[in-house]
Amino acid sequence: MAGADALPELPAFFEFSAEPQWRSVEFISDLHLAPEGPATVERWAAYLRDTRADAVFILGDLFEAWIGDDARTPGSFALAAAGVLAEAASRRHVAFMVGNRDFLVGAAMLRDCGVTALPDPTVLDAWGQRVLLTHGDALCLDDTAYLAFRSQVRGEAWRRAFLAQPLVQRAQLARGMRDASEVHKRAQAVWADVDPAAAVAWMHAAGARDLVHGHTHRPGSELIAPGFIRHVLSDWDCDAAPRRAQVLRLTRDGFTRIDLAS
Ligand code: MN
Repeated sequence: MAGADALPELPAFFEFSAEPQWRSVEFISDLHLAPEGPATVERWAAYLRDTRADAVFILGDLFEAWIGDDARTPGSFALAAAGVLAEAASRRHVAFMVGNRDFLVGAAMLRDCGVTALPDPTVLDAWGQRVLLTHGDALCLDDTAYLAFRSQVRGEAWRRAFLAQPLVQRAQLARGMRDASEVHKRAQAVWADVDPAAAVAWMHAAGARDLVHGHTHRPGSELIAPGFIRHVLSDWDCDAAPRRAQVLRLTRDGFTRIDLAS
């Protein structure tokens, strides 16, 4: 491929096989759940209660912020959300990939909820189809400032130092990071998007025809190269008008989108 030598090194592709008896799996991402958005939280909880999918894959930024699994203190938003996840996971398979906002969701939280941790990226093998799953931020190659920040905060040293601070301080730091990220996003001439050449290189290496990602909040499905299709998930916001809440469903017959906002 032209220019492929300029692309970053390929990641390791974790493999996840759907159970043979599953009939549908659903993907959601970018709900950005927070106490300030109660209608979105309620829509999400109702969706998890009502869906008939055999598995729900959450592909990052379920939470607007996550400052550590130990933030699940009595009466907290984090503990209530964990309860919703645990309840859902008791009735169907729930898998979770972190995003750029909730990358500190850890093994303890997922284990306690009975939720499967998905590394980013993961290849889902379902009914003979190989689908590449990623949050999407690692493929936004034009945003070099963000990628530098990302590699720093995803490191073990940063994680340990951050989690060692008291919860109050962590919450303050998280707010600061979020504000900085909003300012950065607004300062960009064009909102960063997934680099098509890098996406195709990943898909090719993973043997996947379909890519499912979130992060960019620009839902749609498109051919990005002959034989390579990407499906971008919608973000959710039921506290704004018009409301946004969309699910991407995969069955043996392919992908469909379900609108939950109306
Ligand atoms: Mn994101």
